[in-house]
Amino acid sequence: MPNPRLLIDQPLAAGATLTLDEAQAHHVGAVLRLAAGDALRVFNAREGEWRARVIEKTKRGMRVLVEERLRAARACPDLDLLFAPVKRHARDLIVEKATELGVARIRPVLTQRTIAETVRVDRLALIAREAAEQTERFDAPEIAAPVSLPRALDGWESARPLIFADEAGDDEAQAWGGTQGRAPPLAQALASVAGAAKLAVLIGPEGGFTPEERRLLRGLSHVIPVSLGPRILRAETAAIAALTLIQAVWGDWRQG
Ligand code: SAH
Repeated sequence: MPNPRLLIDQPLAAGATLTLDEAQAHHVGAVLRLAAGDALRVFNAREGEWRARVIEKTKRGMRVLVEERLRAARACPDLDLLFAPVKRHARDLIVEKATELGVARIRPVLTQRTIAETVRVDRLALIAREAAEQTERFDAPEIAAPVSLPRALDGWESARPLIFADEAGDDEAQAWGGTQGRAPPLAQALASVAGAAKLAVLIGPEGGFTPEERRLLRGLSHVIPVSLGPRILRAETAAIAALTLIQAVWGDWRQG
């Protein structure tokens, strides 16, 4: 078993002594069950990953000695996930899996059919942090404060194409008044963004997008509607499937 990893917000250098805060000390002591002398790995997005050792465990905290650098830091592809905060279990799953799949940012977006419930950004940040520790990345994705869909789209940076997971089938699309039929498959759409340095993907809530939202999205030149197939996926499945394909085709191998 490789040594457990801990994301540390302090500078890391050989010989540095870290004092873990209470929550992290509890995690290392009670959850990971490490004691004085045990090895672990500490990391952050600036100084990379280091071998470290527990020096002492006290009632209120823990001290850790940073020993030797194991890996230089490497950034995840510049990929944002915009998602409508679905019910709690699915929401937590989306944040965990999006972190594993290497998104840079997670942006909750409130849509018309979003079940209005409060979004605890701090809780989602903790889930992202724990997933980052387990997944060999060097940072936790940033969790943005929730904003409405129009607000998220307002002033969108044009260099970041927005892939819009649009589940509407042909019949439904036509009923909404359009020549706008089923969107092209994601795999095909990704060919058109091969050269983009940044990307974002938008997944809707349990109830999907309203016709009005769909029209708004489809009217924007940087928005690329895509289909994830003829089946309707749950939001969490859609997020995982879309991110897997985007990373496989666009993201993961671009940094060499
Ligand atoms: N409107 C649907 C359910 C929405 S599924 C209904 O209630 O019948 C939740 C979200 O997952 C959608 O808004 C969409 O962003 C994404 N999604 C699910 N299946 C999809 C598919 N086949 N193609 C594209 N996006 C899909």
